[in-house]
Amino acid sequence: MKELRNDWALAEVEALFALPFNDLLFQAHTLHRKNFNPNQVQVSSLLNIKTGACPEDCSYCSQSSKYDTGLEREKLMEVDAVLKQAQEAKDKGATRFCMGAAWRNPTDKSLDKVIPMIQGVKAMGLETCVTLGMLTQEQAFTLKEAGLDYYNHNIDTSKENYSNVITTRSFQDRLNTLESVQNADIHVCSGGILGLGEGQTDRASMLRSLANLEKHPDSVPLNLLVPIPGTPFEAIEPPTESEFVRTIAVARLMMPKSVVRLSAGRTEMGEALQALCFFAGANSIFYGDQLLTTDNPDTNTDQILFERLGINQQLLNSH
Ligand code: SF4
Repeated sequence: MKELRNDWALAEVEALFALPFNDLLFQAHTLHRKNFNPNQVQVSSLLNIKTGACPEDCSYCSQSSKYDTGLEREKLMEVDAVLKQAQEAKDKGATRFCMGAAWRNPTDKSLDKVIPMIQGVKAMGLETCVTLGMLTQEQAFTLKEAGLDYYNHNIDTSKENYSNVITTRSFQDRLNTLESVQNADIHVCSGGILGLGEGQTDRASMLRSLANLEKHPDSVPLNLLVPIPGTPFEAIEPPTESEFVRTIAVARLMMPKSVVRLSAGRTEMGEALQALCFFAGANSIFYGDQLLTTDNPDTNTDQILFERLGINQQLLNSH
């Protein structure tokens, strides 16, 4: 069987999800070990450079202007303040620095303000990643020229479940931006969120959309929804722990060389669940007390977790 496939049929993905849990984990871990050191986890740090007042209506998000979540809006940060935070993240062991702005899409003027941030973070020897919303092809080329390594643009959920979650843009809009980013030869970071009212077929369909991109995303963040009071999804049913681990394992099997990142929701996960996720193929986490606007375990808790599991935090040179 060809190792890197982008011709998955939905039924094949569903068959992976339907495997007995131990068989699925064994297969995923075996493939993980073949492609990665299983005791290394890459660490990224994320900073919100512009908070709130987003015109999009993502039903899970505290930053949408459509919902009253009590979040304080902040305008775009100054370059110096961003670089100071990047230095602090580097000192704490981060190897990649991600900057997120709550925009539907950046204007060319706002992009001009982000460029010196990318250049400054890059000059510190960190990998750079931004998430700024939808991009035109030209904007993707501009970011590449500035030295951008990664662009984060999640597809969030399945194509079928998309309009239950977001109505201000389409699933195809997301794919179009991913295409522009890949055309500009910028690494793609794209994943989704579990707990958006989706079923197992939706999870299979979401992973299928990612794995069937012309090139697999280099990083695949998988988030567990942190329900935010004031949003339409404040009381939505979360997936079970085994459903979450299964999704990580299937992502590992379908995208064997991609870095799978445990993203939002880690504060809700105990040591054993996170350990299972690492076994199933997750090999990256976000580091730092805040993940955009939701809490993340503090750095000390993560150090203890890594020590207990014998995990080294390291830069993965897999891409
Ligand atoms: S998820 Fe992003 S695009 Fe959607 S409302 Fe929040 S900040 Fe805006």
